[in-house]
Amino acid sequence: MRRRSAMARINNNYDKLSTGYLFPEVARRTKAFSESNPGVDIYKLGIGNTTLPLTPSVIEGLRKGVDKLADIKTYTGYGDEQGDSRLRKMIAGLYLRKYNVKIEENEIFVSDGAKPDSANIQSIFGSDGKIAVQDPAYPVYVDSNVIAGRTGPAEGSTYKGIVYMPCNEQNGFFPSVPREKVDLVYICSPNNPTGAVATKEQLSDFVDYARNNRAVIIFDAAYWSYISDPDLPRSIYEVEGARECAIEINSFSKSSGFTGVRLGWSVVPKTLVAEDASPGKINSLWNRRQTTMFNGASNIAQEGGIAALSDKGLEENQAIIDYYMENARIIRECLIEKGFKVFGGKNAPYLWVKTKDGMKSWDFFDKMLREAHVVVTPGSGFGPSGEGYFRVSAFGVRDNVVKAVQSIRDNLK
Ligand SMILES: *Cc1c(COP(=O)(O)O)cnc(C)c1O
Repeated sequence: MRRRSAMARINNNYDKLSTGYLFPEVARRTKAFSESNPGVDIYKLGIGNTTLPLTPSVIEGLRKGVDKLADIKTYTGYGDEQGDSRLRKMIAGLYLRKYNVKIEENEIFVSDGAKPDSANIQSIFGSDGKIAVQDPAYPVYVDSNVIAGRTGPAEGSTYKGIVYMPCNEQNGFFPSVPREKVDLVYICSPNNPTGAVATKEQLSDFVDYARNNRAVIIFDAAYWSYISDPDLPRSIYEVEGARECAIEINSFSKSSGFTGVRLGWSVVPKTLVAEDASPGKINSLWNRRQTTMFNGASNIAQEGGIAALSDKGLEENQAIIDYYMENARIIRECLIEKGFKVFGGKNAPYLWVKTKDGMKSWDFFDKMLREAHVVVTPGSGFGPSGEGYFRVSAFGVRDNVVKAVQSIRDNLK
């Protein structure tokens, strides 16, 4: 049947999306409990959002950004879409100092965050490509590819056409490389939600796989600053050969509390290649994409970012990370005492906890809420391999974390 030519049609890939259901459902059940139990305090250990205020250096940087806009001599309007050159130089400096990795300024693209970049990056690759994701994973990788039409329909909690790489207790929550050939491989380390961090050897296997298959790795390093173990890689470029096969996406959100300020960056090396892309091509495609569809990150936010990467800024932010990691330690201790098997939470702000007796994630969510009045995040919401687990976030104000933990000790049966 011929369709009427004047009629607009929607992108019906959106109708395939079966998820996006996790956090609204957590909120719905929490609200229902609260309404039927008025006056009961509820403790939230579920959110992946920062809670401590910005540090003095960052505030000073942001203020400087505002003040510059107030004066005709320092006012700036649109900046370079790729970001302020001073900030890009500082990011390059960070890679050189911290990882001994050489990244050129024009390989760095400043953005308004890692979520948009990790959702948009797929748009510069072929629309018939096959993707592989860790299971469980941050939902953006899968959903952005569903919307782009790179998958079939949903089948239960997975999509046809996606290669899921299970992360479980047996493999230490880091997968082995796919058996088949895929085009894009998403890796997040330190991982949300499992808190697992890949070793250099594990990343090296993926780099070898990608180079042998002319695949591209999309490496999400948003939690890099939570790694305290000096042997664990904070950037994929610490692995030999990664400059030929990996894009790294990063953010000021979790390292500097910029969740509401909005600032991130992506590294697209000029040495990166793909099946039909020689060196420089993918870098120029991302440059074209950003200059066409993005008008640069806020100049105020970028002044804040410059301050965050100064020596003093990094030192101040380390104190905040230490604070969150102390929350993680307090929560872990309690859950272990309660007889749970606890993973993660050592070089990442998330604890990944196994329910007891094979209880389903949502059943445990309800039990925790009913008995201890604590909100956690059901693991099954991040992928099929998350079933039977729950995620606990260390982002919180200490007082609230301590009260939550006390309530778990006293009330969880
Ligand atoms: C929080 C988070 C981000 C950060 O996103 P922004 O858009 O920079 O705030 C990226 N990736 C993962 C896995 C996250 O959990």
